[in-house]
Amino acid sequence: MQQDSRKHLATLTKRKLVAQDTYELTFSVQNEFSFLVGQYVWVEMEKLVFEDVKGNRRAFSICSSPNKDNTISIVFRESSSGYKKTLLAMPLQSQVNIYGPFGSLVLPTEQNIPIIFIAGGVGIAPFRSIIHKSIIDGSVQTIHLIYANPNLERAAYIEELRQISKNHTSFILQEIYEKITIQHFQKIPQIKNSIIYTTGPAEMVDAVGTILTQIDIPKNNTHFEEFYPKQFAPINSLFTTDFPVTENLFSLSFQNTSNHIVLTDINGKIIFANKAAELLTGYSFEEMRGQTSRLWGGLMDKAFYATLWETIKIKQKPFTAKIYNRKKKGVVYVAIMRISPIFKKEGKLTGFMATEEDITELENLNDTKTEFVVLAAHQLRTPLTVIRWNIETLLVDILEKGELNPLQRKSLDEIYTETKHMISLTSKFLSISRLQMGKYTIKLESTDPLLITKKVLLDLKNLAEEKKLIIKELYAKNVLAVYTDPDFIQIILENLISNAIKYSNLGGNIEIEISLDKQKDIPEVYAIKEKNIFIRVSDTGIGIPKQNQAGIFQGFPRAENAKKIDTTGFGFGLYMTKLIVEHSNGKIWFESEENKGTTFYILLPVQ
Ligand code: ADP
Repeated sequence: MQQDSRKHLATLTKRKLVAQDTYELTFSVQNEFSFLVGQYVWVEMEKLVFEDVKGNRRAFSICSSPNKDNTISIVFRESSSGYKKTLLAMPLQSQVNIYGPFGSLVLPTEQNIPIIFIAGGVGIAPFRSIIHKSIIDGSVQTIHLIYANPNLERAAYIEELRQISKNHTSFILQEIYEKITIQHFQKIPQIKNSIIYTTGPAEMVDAVGTILTQIDIPKNNTHFEEFYPKQFAPINSLFTTDFPVTENLFSLSFQNTSNHIVLTDINGKIIFANKAAELLTGYSFEEMRGQTSRLWGGLMDKAFYATLWETIKIKQKPFTAKIYNRKKKGVVYVAIMRISPIFKKEGKLTGFMATEEDITELENLNDTKTEFVVLAAHQLRTPLTVIRWNIETLLVDILEKGELNPLQRKSLDEIYTETKHMISLTSKFLSISRLQMGKYTIKLESTDPLLITKKVLLDLKNLAEEKKLIIKELYAKNVLAVYTDPDFIQIILENLISNAIKYSNLGGNIEIEISLDKQKDIPEVYAIKEKNIFIRVSDTGIGIPKQNQAGIFQGFPRAENAKKIDTTGFGFGLYMTKLIVEHSNGKIWFESEENKGTTFYILLPVQ
């Protein structure tokens, strides 16, 4: 097993009472050990004498300064925790494991930026380390320390800090022995230009957060070490770029992933954007902060954004869609966008996370491919039609003169059928490609769906009769004329009914239901508000095996059981059907069980 290079064996060498109920423990680390001011370590004891549900490891800020003798000190208050009780009962010279050092509290590099430390109780630890180091280095940076404790007895290192402030004008100590209030901040010079670091118990940090907001301290200038105040979204503090939370895997992953990630509050106001989001949109995080994604969006129609908001805010469900956006420089890009609601532990909605994946190049490639298919299909149509006319003429001639023997006649019949099949295929290719490219023009006209169904059934009559299928037609009375594209209805019905026939066994049953404005028995996810036409085609055939169901609308590959019963399929009838349905803002879904049967449902908005 690889050794953890940050695990060090250490010996407890000193235990000192530094304030009431407050202890400083010093450890001598066995190997070479160096750390920076403001870093922390994990202290692990092999066994706990007193039980502790939180385990045998805790994190502590190092309160001593970097040194050459491999020692570190930590400070903590006595409490009922089994871990701390064990630590206090541990005899000197006992061994512990130290993991670290981790993190670092980065101070501004410019010497003239004043620093304010706000410490509550043992939250003083990292600051003490920094104060010692900067005094040794003779730094000219001004440090103002607000040190809050319940009383003087509990203020660890207070004498030492008073001494330092007496001897160094660049260090100001402000002692507080009451609840921290806005008044405590009034006399601090240059507070608005200072960088403020806070550590301490959660309630104190919360109070500080409120005060800093009230006195309008820019959020960029504030850092919270351990707890984050409620007013400051934790995410915000976590991601401030000048404060590298190096050990925070989440912040690193968010920042470095190649996917655009934006976090917003519940009103869609941006509170975080990663580097990829800056790169994709062309806007810097600072430009995005507080804005909505309209900054680079707004190109889709109103209905799109309405559905988006309804899904994420009212239904509180994720929303995924292909979206067109505009970069800062004006270039339009295509992306797959996904927005997920973020919930607090109690399940309350607190904001949203949006990711975008730029698919512009892929789309361009796809367009080229589609254009090629259109061209190929178009070019094929003419020669194929010529072949067909010639065969038809030949057949008529032969019929009149009777010069072919039955075998020759059969071959010619087959050539004729296959040619017709190829012509129909090329037109399907054309329609699909045009739909894909958004170049299909919908022709809306008064359409009689029942008439189209009858026509489709007539075309498939022979096949259905061969299989001795019983076909039941259930038409609602009100389906007379709807305003829609008749070609769409025809393609949908052709595909669904021919599949039901193809994939039925001898003597099976098929049901075709068509009605208007069906609302009952529609699963909520598929329901549509507009006036609609409902189509259901059910069969008692071979069914779609579970493992093939997910890919059924994607074209190839066809299911094994389908290939056995019908060898002529191409596997893109349903692909095309779905394309049409989606193009019309409709819904398609199915239920199927192998060897029991399949039902396809379609809801198509009509005018
Ligand atoms: P094709 O029928 O030409 O293969 P489709 O796109 O119409 O192409 O259908 C895709 C696949 O879905 C079929 O190959 C088959 O596996 C399955 N399928 C479609 N409809 C049915 C049905 N009614 N019963 C069983 N399987 C079906």
